[in-house]
Amino acid sequence: MSKKWRLTDRTRTLLTLELAIVLPAAALMGFSIWNLKHIQRSEAVEAAIQRDFSHVLKIAEKKTWHKANDMVIPVRNKFPNADGDRDKIKAKLEQMLTEYPEFAYAFLYDKKSNLFVSRAQPGRDWDSGFYARAQESINMAQSWISLDAPQMAAKVHRMEKEDEPVLFEGGWMLNDNQRAYYNLAYFIPPDVPKDRVELGFVSFDEDYLRKTFLPAMMKDVLTSRSNVLQLEENPPVMMIHPSKDPAPWVSSANWDGGNPEADRSFELVFPGLSVAIKYQGTTVADIGSKFLRYNYIVLAALSVLMAGGIWLTYRNVSREMTLARVKSDFVANVSHELRTPLALIRLYAETLELGRLKDKEKYQEYFRIIREESERLTALINNILDFSRIEAGRKEYEFQETDLGELVHSTLESYRFQIQQNGFAFEENISGDIPPVKVDREAIARSLLNLVNNALKYSRDRKFIGVSLYRSGGSINLEVRDSGIGIPANEQDKIFEKFYRCGDPLVHNVKGSGLGLSLVRHIARAHGGDVTVESAPEKGSKFTIALPFASASQTGSATA
Ligand code: ADP
Repeated sequence: MSKKWRLTDRTRTLLTLELAIVLPAAALMGFSIWNLKHIQRSEAVEAAIQRDFSHVLKIAEKKTWHKANDMVIPVRNKFPNADGDRDKIKAKLEQMLTEYPEFAYAFLYDKKSNLFVSRAQPGRDWDSGFYARAQESINMAQSWISLDAPQMAAKVHRMEKEDEPVLFEGGWMLNDNQRAYYNLAYFIPPDVPKDRVELGFVSFDEDYLRKTFLPAMMKDVLTSRSNVLQLEENPPVMMIHPSKDPAPWVSSANWDGGNPEADRSFELVFPGLSVAIKYQGTTVADIGSKFLRYNYIVLAALSVLMAGGIWLTYRNVSREMTLARVKSDFVANVSHELRTPLALIRLYAETLELGRLKDKEKYQEYFRIIREESERLTALINNILDFSRIEAGRKEYEFQETDLGELVHSTLESYRFQIQQNGFAFEENISGDIPPVKVDREAIARSLLNLVNNALKYSRDRKFIGVSLYRSGGSINLEVRDSGIGIPANEQDKIFEKFYRCGDPLVHNVKGSGLGLSLVRHIARAHGGDVTVESAPEKGSKFTIALPFASASQTGSATA
């Protein structure tokens, strides 16, 4: 694999990543931001809320009309007509008003006989103020009635055809410098011939409208289940005001002042009155900007998530690519490592086979070399087998009670000759107070050999290997020291990863697979312990396998 090819491979992956994820993601983000900016204070949201408000006000007017209508219809059905004498008519009006105390006064007008009979609410006869106001309204009506009645009667006739026999009139007037709302519902009383201009009138009591009728209507509208305006913390509130004056005349509970969001005049039922609505404690504009802010926050959070995702993907891809490269290096390394001892074994075996060696010592040496090389082969193959078992999740350990001191000593013993042959000073310290622990003998021996082997491989001129076994707190430490090339701090974590080999030129001249330390770590962890390194470049390294006593309680086998 040439370096150049690798570079293009990497570039291609990055390009793919960029084209497939980064570009569309960035485009989406950009578009969303543009979109949000564009709708500015989110006019769409505001318009939608405004529409809902208007809709609710329309419903409010409808409800008011229905309710007023339902109250006037029974009165209309009982209303006297102009057949009969004045006193009888008056008595009938009186009786009717007593029955319906919500009305302030009623009167009957007949054009043909120029009859005008009126009565104020008998229930309030004791209230002189009330009586005076009612009388004034009646007098006013009497002044215009003869002029307006024909038109009004024609209108009622028209509306009767649409099944709406009651019409409403209303407005504001000044009463002792105080404005007062007057209202009239009018209709044609029962049994009046078509050609006559005869009308019945009733007026809702202003107090009743103000204190009972309108508040109940607002409550009904605001608490209705179909109300689309419900905001948890800012419930909608309503008020009713004179159409020409924005100050509230009647307001719903919780009305908190401020400008209404929507307004509608009660043309159909109480002309001169308008109903207005808003949210308590907030404005639609506020909601709009809150919505915008919320969207920006969501967008920002999404961007962060996406950036994180891209970074993770990038890291994984790079890691996978490095691993792929490292794996192919590994195959090359291992093949090389297998070939060298095999070549040596073959060479020495062939020499021995020829039988031409005179010197007995040479024989010994050749046999030793063959043995050592086969041991190296075995160790390498064991490492690879172990590694593949671990990778496949099939590595099993057999824990048995072991005298660690004895195990370490005998393992080193078979290696001592090779260590000394290579010119290394060797030191072995096994403390006497090591308790028996349950370990996998073969695995521990293999870890130790890997560490000692590394000390041999990665030392230049200062040739020293020290092995110690001692108790420390709750664990038993197996320590392998050397005075070799050491490991730079930034690589000390990585050397325990599979296939990892340091950048030092010496390391590249020495054969290796990069598997040894990853196995050591796996074994140490399977025993409930761990392996650590202390090292400084050109000073040397110290590897420590710490096995807790707790591992003594392990039974059976552990699977990786
Ligand atoms: P290998 O020795 O087969 O390369 P290891 O997993 O045993 O694989 O070691 C990984 C790397 O750690 C080595 O390639 C080497 O760079 C570094 N290393 C391990 N032990 C030592 C040591 N005692 N001194 C210096 N470097 C070491």
